[in-house]
Amino acid sequence: MGASAPAVIIGGGVIGCSLAYHLGRAGWRDTVLLEQHELTEGTTWHTAGFVTSMRGPDGPGWHARLAGYLPALAAMLRAETGLDPGWRPVGGLRLALSHTHVDELRRLARRADELGVPLELRGASATMNLAPRLDLTDVQAAAWLPGEGFVRPKDFVGALVAGARTHGADIRTGVRVTGIDATGGAVRAVHTSDGVIETPVVVNAAGAAAGAVGALAGVGVPVVPVLHQYGVTDVLQPALDPDTTPTCRVPEQQFYLRGANGAVIIGGSRPDPVAAWPAGDAEPLAKARDLAEPDDAAFARLWQLARARMPELAQAKLAKIMHGVEAYTPDGAPLAGPTTLPGLWIAAGGGLHGMALAGGLGRHLAEWITTGSSTWDLTALLPDRFGPSATNRDWLTTRALATLART
Ligand SMILES: Cc1cc2nc3c(=O)[nH]c(=O)nc-3n(C[C@H](O)[C@H](O)[C@H](O)COP(=O)(O)OP(=O)(O)OC[C@H]3O[C@@H](n4cnc5c(N)ncnc54)[C@H](O)[C@@H]3O)c2cc1C
Repeated sequence: MGASAPAVIIGGGVIGCSLAYHLGRAGWRDTVLLEQHELTEGTTWHTAGFVTSMRGPDGPGWHARLAGYLPALAAMLRAETGLDPGWRPVGGLRLALSHTHVDELRRLARRADELGVPLELRGASATMNLAPRLDLTDVQAAAWLPGEGFVRPKDFVGALVAGARTHGADIRTGVRVTGIDATGGAVRAVHTSDGVIETPVVVNAAGAAAGAVGALAGVGVPVVPVLHQYGVTDVLQPALDPDTTPTCRVPEQQFYLRGANGAVIIGGSRPDPVAAWPAGDAEPLAKARDLAEPDDAAFARLWQLARARMPELAQAKLAKIMHGVEAYTPDGAPLAGPTTLPGLWIAAGGGLHGMALAGGLGRHLAEWITTGSSTWDLTALLPDRFGPSATNRDWLTTRALATLART
């Protein structure tokens, strides 16, 4: 293993890989990325891949900015690598079933206007041609966001990694970081299962394990591992073409759908979210491609909603439920920036939107690390925003679950 590097990224999920690509693009060759398993085998491999351009009528501007960068990044990756980066701009529908939520869609439209996000309000009948296989009889209005879509995680990360390597990044898998040397009050080196690498810059992109990695340097990281699940049906007859089927959300039911390989992905947030701190000394993401047992009772609500919205699902079977861990913060916003330890940075806490935000997060941090500032003002994502509470697991968990329950 090379004994020194300008920067070491810990974590080969979508956020770490995006950062490796953007650091390389900014001219930092020889950046090392270390992943304890194979790439993406933490949370990224089982993402549902929805790319949501804004969170809601009161949603933060930074989300629109970061997610809005994905199409340009995908085009850049395609041109540089010749690979399909997996971005599918199929558009997104949000349905309102009540007068209150029609008003919410109107507020969403005003916010979209402020943020420069393309959005068109439509009546139910004008929505039919976009979603001919959905039952829209209870729909009062819809918002059509043509810039939304989904991303195929394997393809997206594959293109990021190919691009990163072209720009000189050194991506190593099967290497676990076991220590961070901060002798003298600043980062000096990382200790790994394969030796020591001297470096002045370490980025903690360890997803749901970011707290454990921060602890190696004595830095509290306000990330809580939480569980999230979605179901996938068998292939429908006729098969649903995911590349021409808009994604669909019903915010008042906390429920969403999209096409995937001829089938449908059915997901949603739940009013009673669950934390996933491992027992004893175990760390989150310690096992590759780890999944929790499906929560059938919680999924039953989504399955019922899906069958009502898409009547042909009455004949369909559920093929699998993906119930996995993701990294959530007390306010639901990622952590992106320097920590209190000079040389240690964080890019984690992507939560429910980490795939959509990863491209922008990588660009933002790479710019900041290499030039000392970033084009985007993202102070809302500063890692130290929770102060000393960052080390209080009970406080973090209570706040994170309360925030997640409201999404
Ligand atoms: C069921 C589910 C559905 C989702 N759906 C969506 C969606 O539709 N849209 C969306 O935008 N987002 C979605 N997400 C969220 C998104 O998938 C995540 O935010 C994103 O994948 C996180 O990427 P990451 O790089 O931060 O973390 P990860 O992919 O977990 O990567 C972190 C990596 O760090 C490695 N690591 C940890 N410790 C060490 C160490 N000591 N040494 C070396 N390596 C280490 C881990 O092995 C892991 O591979 C979903 C999440 C879940 C769970």
